[in-house]
Amino acid sequence: MSIVTIARPEICALQPYSSARMEASGGAVLLNANESPWPASAASGLNRYPDPQPAALVARLAQLYAVDCAQVLVGRGSDEAIDLLVRAFCAAGKDAIAICPPTFGMYAVSARIQGAGVIEVPLTRDFGLDADALLAAVTPQTKLVFLCSPNNPTGGVVPYEVVARIVAALSGRALVVVDEAYADFAGGTSATSLLTQSANVAILRTLSKAHALAGARIGALIASTDVIALLRRIQAPYPLPQPCVEAALAALTPVAREEAAAHVAASVRERKRIAPLLSALPDVRAVLPSAANFLCVRFDDAALTYRRLLDRGIVVRDVGTYHGLANCLRISIGTPQENACLLSALQAREAAA
Ligand code: PMP
Repeated sequence: MSIVTIARPEICALQPYSSARMEASGGAVLLNANESPWPASAASGLNRYPDPQPAALVARLAQLYAVDCAQVLVGRGSDEAIDLLVRAFCAAGKDAIAICPPTFGMYAVSARIQGAGVIEVPLTRDFGLDADALLAAVTPQTKLVFLCSPNNPTGGVVPYEVVARIVAALSGRALVVVDEAYADFAGGTSATSLLTQSANVAILRTLSKAHALAGARIGALIASTDVIALLRRIQAPYPLPQPCVEAALAALTPVAREEAAAHVAASVRERKRIAPLLSALPDVRAVLPSAANFLCVRFDDAALTYRRLLDRGIVVRDVGTYHGLANCLRISIGTPQENACLLSALQAREAAA
């Protein structure tokens, strides 16, 4: 059964906007999109609207994630895909999403903007996913279930078998969205492996982290072709600026991918090196096990640590308001030099205390 049958019927019935470039993309004399026929000398090549789903970029992303081109939707970061999913599947005042806090904030924000409900099934005390509680909490109105693996901001992984079990249990009932924004740092099996047997799984990937392209805003949703086709109906006519498409193509050449892999390996090495050093600090109560490019660290007094780091120009993220993360700071893994700065600032704080 297609999972699109649980999407908003009015979106399935919608007559989508048809852009000029969608209707006809080739041709030597382009007189169909009311563009300037003259390139601007300051920005040559940008006088034309971009391809809504650039074929070369979709093909490279499909190759990167080992899926078919028709299973890929490229958009403005994975943030856009989250928003499109919520808008396509959740009717305001009626439907809901399920999340497992503490987790990435945009799922709940997108749902609230849409007027959809948010069912929260907190992670366990040691920040594991409670799959039974999650499945028990899913109602007929719950259209999307977000699993973040590795999870932001804790860094924990949802084991592949657990993802598979949840997807199978919700077959035909809810679309399970597995956010793999940090998967490059974790290794392990991607939930894309479930696509051949399950229609109700979608995977979020991004070039913002491992591929060092946060500024270009390129994210991908990988899902069954009918989900991709549904979301294309509500995506903005020309979502991807041409310079960003070109940056993404450049970031996905074999040489650039090798460089990205080397940086990912360096981040993982640094994470493994600094986690025990942080744990050893007297005012650190815990360093959560992380498979991502950040560490979530519980301090005796996170607000004080935050201010002292800031005084030295080091900016970390205070995640103390997230469920179960009182006194926690999320610290991105930097270059070895940046991490040395962090450690010496934290050690100096000890000496001063
Ligand atoms: N998912 C997770 C888990 C994230 O942490 C982030 C960014 N912080 C995103 C998605 C969004 O990433 P982007 O829009 O840059 O692709």
